[in-house]
Amino acid sequence: MPPVIDPDLCSRCGQCVDICSEDVFFGSDEGEVPTVTYPLECIHFSGCVYECPDEAITLRIPLPMLLVYRPTSTGQ
Ligand code: SF4
Repeated sequence: MPPVIDPDLCSRCGQCVDICSEDVFFGSDEGEVPTVTYPLECIHFSGCVYECPDEAITLRIPLPMLLVYRPTSTGQ
């Protein structure tokens, strides 16, 4: 799921815009709450969540991305 920004918490610092390698917030105006312009480009690396000083961003990781490890029947 793409990032969701709480406009009441966001101090409009732009750090999430700067950290995003996929330009999900492309075209956001400086000094404004960033716009999630390309939600489908989000790769969920959570940089924006960690960078946000106001904890204004919620990012729900899709279930398939949580299943990164499954042991094989041989234990390898
Ligand atoms: S990093 Fe957080 S406070 Fe700064 S613009 Fe993004 S959502 Fe707003």
